[in-house]
Amino acid sequence: MSYRHQAISGEVLDLPLGKIVCVGRNYADHIAELNNSVPAEPLLFIKPNTALAHLDKPLQIPKSGPCHNELELALLVKKPMPSSQTSYSDEAILEGIWGIGLGLDLTLREKQTELKSQGYPWERAKAFDASCPLSAFIPLTESIDLQALAFQLNVNGEIRQRGDSSHMMHTCVSLVREILSCFTLLPGDVVMTGTPKGVGPLQSKDVLSLSLRQEQGELLNIETQVK
Ligand code: ZN
Repeated sequence: MSYRHQAISGEVLDLPLGKIVCVGRNYADHIAELNNSVPAEPLLFIKPNTALAHLDKPLQIPKSGPCHNELELALLVKKPMPSSQTSYSDEAILEGIWGIGLGLDLTLREKQTELKSQGYPWERAKAFDASCPLSAFIPLTESIDLQALAFQLNVNGEIRQRGDSSHMMHTCVSLVREILSCFTLLPGDVVMTGTPKGVGPLQSKDVLSLSLRQEQGELLNIETQVK
């Protein structure tokens, strides 16, 4: 696997490839589009590091069923944050995050629906190789407000997904805090913070444009294609 975590400057980051912790159902509009219920606590699942891929390289998707886009804000962890029953402060959590980027939580939707209906885990639908393409990461400086970030996915020139972190049901910091109440985060781990509505099937040769912006201007703009 050729993936390495990268900074927006192009620098390859000296961080290992860790697990990817994903959050399900963090935007009310997406919960409604799949007729899901609002979970009492954030729904967590994990992808292995073999799911990592570069978002700006042609995307490899499985042929075994409809593979849906889920565009999400991604957080890259830089410091060990041991699981703890005592709560982390906001500052401690922010100090543990290297930066932010965009990621796709690629999902075999029919397989996921089948597994969900049987009450089974989702790995067959979500944890396949290259199921988590990630952008380069923007360092978390004081000019970045994690809860004021807009992101968008266009497929073949049409808007597919539009999200705004101000609409998250659980903020980035509270999601990390919730994760830490269950297990440890290590340098190189990634947190995927959930998808807004607009999930749908990707096809071979689809052209994807992805952007991340805040009020002061654009942070990321990526063009990529499905293989
Ligand atoms: Zn997702």
